[in-house]
Amino acid sequence: MKPIQVLLVIGLMFAVNTIFAQADSSDQLFKKYDNYREKRITHRRFKHHDIEPILLNMKKLPNVEVEEIGRSVENRAIYMVKMGSGKIPVLLWSQMHGDEPTATQALFDIFNFFQKDDELNPLRDKILSELTLYFIPMLNPDGAERFTRRNALQIDINRDARRLESPESKILKAMRERTQAKFGFNLHDQQKYYTAGHHPYPASITFLAPAYNPAEDMNPVRANAAKLIVQLNNMLQKYIPHSVGKWNDDFEPRAFGELMTKWGTSTVLIESGGYSDDPERQFVRKLNFVILLTAFEAIADKTYEKQPIDDYFKIPLNEKMLNDLIIRRLKIKEKGRAYRMDFSFRQREIQYAHATKFYHRGYIVDKGDLVTFFGYKELDADGMTMTLGKILPKKYRNLSHFLKKKNPMEVLKSGYTAIRLRKKDMTQVPLDFPLIILGKNENYRNDFRLGHNPSFLLKSTTGKSYAVTNGQLINL
Ligand SMILES: [Zn+2]
Repeated sequence: MKPIQVLLVIGLMFAVNTIFAQADSSDQLFKKYDNYREKRITHRRFKHHDIEPILLNMKKLPNVEVEEIGRSVENRAIYMVKMGSGKIPVLLWSQMHGDEPTATQALFDIFNFFQKDDELNPLRDKILSELTLYFIPMLNPDGAERFTRRNALQIDINRDARRLESPESKILKAMRERTQAKFGFNLHDQQKYYTAGHHPYPASITFLAPAYNPAEDMNPVRANAAKLIVQLNNMLQKYIPHSVGKWNDDFEPRAFGELMTKWGTSTVLIESGGYSDDPERQFVRKLNFVILLTAFEAIADKTYEKQPIDDYFKIPLNEKMLNDLIIRRLKIKEKGRAYRMDFSFRQREIQYAHATKFYHRGYIVDKGDLVTFFGYKELDADGMTMTLGKILPKKYRNLSHFLKKKNPMEVLKSGYTAIRLRKKDMTQVPLDFPLIILGKNENYRNDFRLGHNPSFLLKSTTGKSYAVTNGQLINL
């Protein structure tokens, strides 16, 4: 190798190193996440009274300001947490929809991150010296109380940005005016059935740089959000390949994302979505933590400015193609004749205990040729024999009485998919309990009509057997 070539190779190695150096902090954030995780919040149905003491306690910390910025319809205090002293104001608000709490949890992880003292100090210092961060965790505490999208007026806050009728909407608009935020992060959750494009992959994260006008034009304010999204999408491919989606760019004149952009804040919408075997979205919470801190770093370093904006439009659009379960080519009998159909199932969350807990109820979403849809779990039942499950004839006092006498899996294996309890109390039933639970005289139509919740057994020619109950597939 000639000296000039050696120099070129060394130069190239430096260039490659610089690229990896940029990726390094997201890598480290990902690896070290458990050190920062807020362990007092572990599931999605936490309430205002769970986070308020944590926020009030943060008032003691140096370099952190915690301020009550207003009250919800039902008089719950809404807080803003301020950190940093940089020239670039950044505003983040989470949970304007009460049942979309994933990012709120990540904000508390981020608060912890900034209190730690470790080898990520250079990243902390850089962010806090370049940016001033304004966080509003849980903008809709009344909705969170009921775990509903809307607030106590039953208004969707994200359709109130124009009229500003709800106090929560007024608060958010006032904070934008006060902070004059250059960047905004509009933090939501979406259903786990969204996919990133027409693929079987869930859209675990979906982005949008909302349009500021019906023509969906790209001005510098919106372009900055789109470029930042390009950078974040590239970073995420390492952790969730094919699972980053984009919302369509349609202009919604009443939504905060759109109007924030119009008001001059480069707004990034982030939707937390589904991920396999992550019902409480704790992995997606971790992704939020990495995304937001990586975004702060990109804003501080201005690396987003170099991203090709065309790549924003290459991110696959969200589609709703997923189900919890698809059973394909199932042979069933209807009115004396045999038919072969695919069946898709989803599970509804039925809440109890003042919306702090839930159980699942399965139902058929669609039937027929479902070749264009996907399931988190799928089974090809071609050649399998299907037997509808029976109700165990003996009635039990309650679930613990039943569990003392019987093993649920053995009951399933002997062809019974449902049991009757004289005192049916779903709050005692584990989330993925394998049997259907019925009351003393409760009607149960075990059939394959749309919206129904059939339970049945499948046996393959090679002797493999399965049960389907409550929209879940059980390997017997
Ligand atoms: Zn939302």
